[in-house]
Amino acid sequence: MSDCLFCKIIEGEIPSTMVYRDEQTYAFRDINPGAPTHILIVPTKHIDSVNFMINDDEPLIGHLFTVAKQIAAQEGLAEKGYRLVVNTNAEAGQTVFHIHLHLLGGRQLLKMG
Ligand code: AMP
Ligand code: ZN
Repeated sequence: MSDCLFCKIIEGEIPSTMVYRDEQTYAFRDINPGAPTHILIVPTKHIDSVNFMINDDEPLIGHLFTVAKQIAAQEGLAEKGYRLVVNTNAEAGQTVFHIHLHLLGGRQLLKMG
């Protein structure tokens, strides 16, 4: 996906502050943080959004949560608490169409909904 911002970040064509990397996953700090800790966790495989997930992606998306849990612990958030968010399409405010998990924490987060 040559035109995808997050694919370029994963490839190192656009700089980012790396937090974690493995074969399937890349995690980096959000450039416009909404909380003291705001990390994006993305699969190295390009998937536009949750709407484009296929059944075979289930282990991969599950792995994003395992990575999120590890990063939350590293960031000292495991006990205090944190929020994992996946925005899908316009009304949810999705701006980058490469599926990603937001990890937010480090302050009291307002209730959603
Ligand atoms: P979403 O609105 O759910 O699609 O989230 C996209 C996120 O990507 C936003 O929180 C942006 O601040 C973040 N973002 C955009 N460009 C960059 C970048 N170059 N490096 C890090 N984060 C970025
Ligand atoms: Zn991509």
